[in-house]
Amino acid sequence: KMNTDIGQHVLKNPGIADAIVQKADLKQSDTVLEVGPGTGNLTVKILEKAKRVIAVEMDPRMAAETVKRVQATPMQKKLEVLVGDVIKTELPRFDVCISNTPYQISSPLVFKLLALQPAPRTMILMFQREFAMRLFAKPGDKLYSRLSVNAQMWAKIDHVMKVGRNNFNPPPAVESSVVRITPKVPRPRISYEEWDGLLRVCFVRKNKTLRASFFGTSSVMDMLEANYRTWCATEGVPLEEGPAPDGEMEADDGGDRAGDQEEEEWGGIMDVDEEEDDLPAFFKEEAERKAALLNRSGSKRKKKGKVAELVREKVRKVLEDVTELADRRARLCDETDFLKLLSAFNDEGIRFA
Ligand code: SAM
Repeated sequence: KMNTDIGQHVLKNPGIADAIVQKADLKQSDTVLEVGPGTGNLTVKILEKAKRVIAVEMDPRMAAETVKRVQATPMQKKLEVLVGDVIKTELPRFDVCISNTPYQISSPLVFKLLALQPAPRTMILMFQREFAMRLFAKPGDKLYSRLSVNAQMWAKIDHVMKVGRNNFNPPPAVESSVVRITPKVPRPRISYEEWDGLLRVCFVRKNKTLRASFFGTSSVMDMLEANYRTWCATEGVPLEEGPAPDGEMEADDGGDRAGDQEEEEWGGIMDVDEEEDDLPAFFKEEAERKAALLNRSGSKRKKKGKVAELVREKVRKVLEDVTELADRRARLCDETDFLKLLSAFNDEGIRFA
């Protein structure tokens, strides 16, 4: 019996399973990661073509089923099944990833795979059609998001084939697509964490201007301030050095109050990208975690207003003067714009991770 809550829709059309494995272009020397083998329909076909398969399956009954399927066959010793949530599992090295992905984890799975170093050679993944389209969406497209920018930064994305819902048992509610993700070689020489951190901020409100994304959510500024303090500490830069901000400095976080007000105004019209994480909550946790790490208290805490003001001024300068992107919306920015932003921010000591 299938548990559709965790995406158990097994492929019943062997032709599609064959096509997926064929598209992976496997070599006899390859180690393959399979996510969610289910009853093993893809697994047995991969085992025929590869040296080794490591399958990560969350449901112990399914894991047992996959193991049983190859028991007492020559394939048995080529298969290792890890029982657990792939998102929480430390992945071993592998050459190729093949997965009829449980759709609930599409987004975290792709981010996890893109961050791997060394990167796998290729990944053939089945997704819900709309998710697949988000992977190759371009600036201005409705589905353009943090996921699109990230995926296209680290990899080349190709649409391999459409798969109708009736090829599955039970049929899911939506159509599917198989996508090939080929990590770029060499890997772009920027930090994954910095890049993704910047994108999280820019896409916190993708239809708003970048100015609004940075200044409209007080948790974003808190996080950047915490990062700035860490950066100053590690680089040996005095905390309040740098160009004095124009105008009066407020002793008690006037800036943050303004931010909260704006946030309230936008409450109703903010578009929520369903598969995107709760970004404001994410920033709040990050800021708190980092403040705790720095163990801020007593006299240092009193300076918060000044450092907050300095960070705001740096952000303003980068957005308005250096890049002139303050009035642009993230949904219209391309990779070059984001690279320009990241380098300008890092030059100012503003870090995103
Ligand atoms: N690969 C099989 C096929 O194509 O017939 C089954 C695919 S089914 C769409 C997804 C499988 O992923 C299920 O067996 C489910 O138990 C498993 N799964 C769901 N969430 C998972 C997670 N977080 N980590 C690992 N496996 C997961």
